[in-house]
Amino acid sequence: MLTKGGFSLILSVEKFANATQTILPLRRLCLTRTVYVSTSERTSRSLNVPLSRFEPNEYINYEKNASVLDIVKKRLNHPLTLSEKILYSHLDNPQNQKIERGKSYLRLRPDRVAMQDATAQMAVLQFISSGLPSVLCPSTIHCDHLIEAQVGGDEDLKRAKDINKEVFNFLATASAKYNIGFWKPGSGIIHQIILENYAYPGLLLIGTDSHTPNGGGLGGLCIGVGGADAVDVMANMPWEIKCPKIIGVRLTGQLNGWTAPKDVILKLAGILTVKGGTGAIIEYFGPGVDSISCTGMGTICNMGAEIGATTSVFPYNKRMVEYLKATKREDIANLANQYQSELLTADDDAKYDRIIDINLSELEPHVNGPFTPDLAHPIDKLAEEAKKNKWPLDIRVGLIGSCTNSSYEDMTRAASIAQQAIDKGIKAKSTFTVTPGSEQIRATIERDGIAEKLRQMGGIVLANACGPCIGQWDRKDVKKNEKNTIISS
Ligand code: SF4
Repeated sequence: MLTKGGFSLILSVEKFANATQTILPLRRLCLTRTVYVSTSERTSRSLNVPLSRFEPNEYINYEKNASVLDIVKKRLNHPLTLSEKILYSHLDNPQNQKIERGKSYLRLRPDRVAMQDATAQMAVLQFISSGLPSVLCPSTIHCDHLIEAQVGGDEDLKRAKDINKEVFNFLATASAKYNIGFWKPGSGIIHQIILENYAYPGLLLIGTDSHTPNGGGLGGLCIGVGGADAVDVMANMPWEIKCPKIIGVRLTGQLNGWTAPKDVILKLAGILTVKGGTGAIIEYFGPGVDSISCTGMGTICNMGAEIGATTSVFPYNKRMVEYLKATKREDIANLANQYQSELLTADDDAKYDRIIDINLSELEPHVNGPFTPDLAHPIDKLAEEAKKNKWPLDIRVGLIGSCTNSSYEDMTRAASIAQQAIDKGIKAKSTFTVTPGSEQIRATIERDGIAEKLRQMGGIVLANACGPCIGQWDRKDVKKNEKNTIISS
């Protein structure tokens, strides 16, 4: 036990390796990481709410975040955006840190680290060379990038486990040794697993994957980094980032009809281009936010990577409460309710570096591309553009799902179209694949007959993994260099 700043400090490094969702024997280590856990000093506001169901003895510590932020607020003396609140409440040295958006470098203490199997290999090897007996920040590894899509979920998974046996065994055993949560191949895609299990409002997470910002759909600042940054944080070193600018996106109106949450980011990509978010956090606010589901907000934040944004985030709201309840984390919602205005939403009159307005009531469904995600086409202009640019009109493959678009909401929309086709005796002319983002999603769409409807229409349900999205796709329907069109949701 150490003391710092009047708090009791202790680290309980108790991790659950869920290679098989089994709890490994716990090891309690007393280390020097600055984690403030429950003690008698806690006030009634600070209920002991675990970080996740896999870490029952490590707690969300809004109380510490609030006290750090108090120091910064007194220094800055102006209203803060939500992004600033989350960043500054994780400062390593709030008293002396130079804070200037777009200029100074912040030294931060993230709450957790996430790694996918391709990037985790080097990161874990580097961590091992540190000589530490355990990671000093809650961390997880997700086996999702090394599973090639070929014929369908079960067969593809079996083949991938065989081909990558050495990698998976290394990651599983190293995770067990160094107290890292391990998600085995087939369990799901990193960002969906994070959203379902680990993300929470106010979280600061770094992940070794560019689409880590997905967790902003649950009000966390989740930032994609390189493996070396992950190693630093796992070894208890502060993490450094240039203080981002903040682009505000004010949402008004309401989503309706076939317009989906992803149309918000497709529209925004058309406005900002692939470079427009560089060095900035995209922060959404306004009365339109509540018309977007939590998983929809996750999709929007996920795809913020396409415009180069550091990350994206939504304010804590009732849709997040619903999602936390649906994923059996009502206790987090109860705690977050107490910190909503202090930590989890922007102050009135907070200043943004730029504000973009999007009226959801006027937003049309979009398809972006080809070749670049900022080439935005409202759906009614797509055919005209395709003909004008001589893009192949014969769509060879449709891809539904991935970490970004496999929410229940997304799947039910696709199933609704499939049902209309089935009713008219139509089958898909093109190949079409379905990638569930997690085992939970796969089981749910099977339970509710959604997967069966998509199969009846001609869909192939792939493994719960990245597959075609990351190019792990043994495609046989086109010759090499043959120009062709695919559409991905
Ligand atoms: S599904 Fe695609 S976007 Fe998501 S983690 Fe995998 S490769 Fe990245």
